Amino acid sequence: MTSGRMSRYGAPRRELDAIVESLGEPRYRAAQIHEGLWGLRRPLDDLTNVPKRVREQLAERLPLDLVPVLERRGDHDLTTKWLWQVAGGDQVETVLMRTADRATVCVSSQAGCAMACTFCATGQAGFERHLTAAEIVEQVVRAQHASPQRVGNVVFMGMGEPLANLDEVEPALERLHTDLGLSARHLTVSTVGIVPGIERLTRFPLPVTLAISLHAPDDALRDSLVPLNRRYPIADVLDAARGYVEAKGRRVTFEYACISGVNDHPHQADALAGRLAGFPGGAHVNLIPLNPTAGYRGDAPGAGRIATFADRLTARGITATVRRNRGTDIDAACGQLRTRTAVPVDLRDSSP
Ligand code: SAH
Repeated sequence: MTSGRMSRYGAPRRELDAIVESLGEPRYRAAQIHEGLWGLRRPLDDLTNVPKRVREQLAERLPLDLVPVLERRGDHDLTTKWLWQVAGGDQVETVLMRTADRATVCVSSQAGCAMACTFCATGQAGFERHLTAAEIVEQVVRAQHASPQRVGNVVFMGMGEPLANLDEVEPALERLHTDLGLSARHLTVSTVGIVPGIERLTRFPLPVTLAISLHAPDDALRDSLVPLNRRYPIADVLDAARGYVEAKGRRVTFEYACISGVNDHPHQADALAGRLAGFPGGAHVNLIPLNPTAGYRGDAPGAGRIATFADRLTARGITATVRRNRGTDIDAACGQLRTRTAVPVDLRDSSP
């Protein structure tokens, strides 16, 4: 962990051991607490087999990093979004998406984002700071505390560009895998296409799932949606993604936000299929109907139009799914994760 101050989900195991020992507790106590916090995923306060005095001391020595600012529920309670305040005052968001038998958590990797994708609310707001590994991991754990279903998937699709913060994202992935017990392929890192970041993730030992936000079949259009494309054009991003598949044996997913009249024309589906043809392991495209954001004029295409786009991809051997838009009613859908910073709004939202 590179985070400076010690926190509950940032402290390495040996730090927990040392604190528990300094409290004069027997050796098994640290193992019991570690198992409770990570293995059973319980809040510290719920570990009633640990003496209250020890829990209180630990709570003080290993504080939580995330202070809840507001919580909203939508989709008949299946989607929960939190706005947290982190050290320094920045705010980040986490989304929990539940089904009958499992749960997925969408985490932020940065407060804000420097990538400036035109249609993304976070990109419109600009970069604030990197999150620490502890702050990333705690988002998953806190969401688990609110979910009766086991969190089995974590997607780095909240605020921020995870490959711009690999110094913290890699140790976070490590901890989610080793301590929380999540399988690597159920950890999905989504990137706008930072080529050196993809190469670095290729060397990272865990075979996590890689998702590439493509959004356009050609560079001229992608330049206008994803400014980073001028630095890393589509061909370079696809080369790096191929390298990833070859090293990890994992299928790569491509995300494509569908914008009416911009990137949803049938000939663009054909062009996209052409670019992804023969991709190792087979390319899979996730079509996301555009979610409205304040700073971008554009609409989602109608359902029929997106279905046609998907069919044309499928006809050319590229599997495609249309992503259901969970969370639109609470501004928790893709690209809508943007802090409404005004304090009066927060106060109003948290009052009964
Ligand atoms: N920075 C990373 C991860 C965060 S965004 C990335 O770009 O991949 C997660 C996904 O939501 C990306 O595919 C992103 O392009 C998409 N997205 C952003 N804004 C959106 C919007 N307004 N409507 C639909 N999808 C959006």
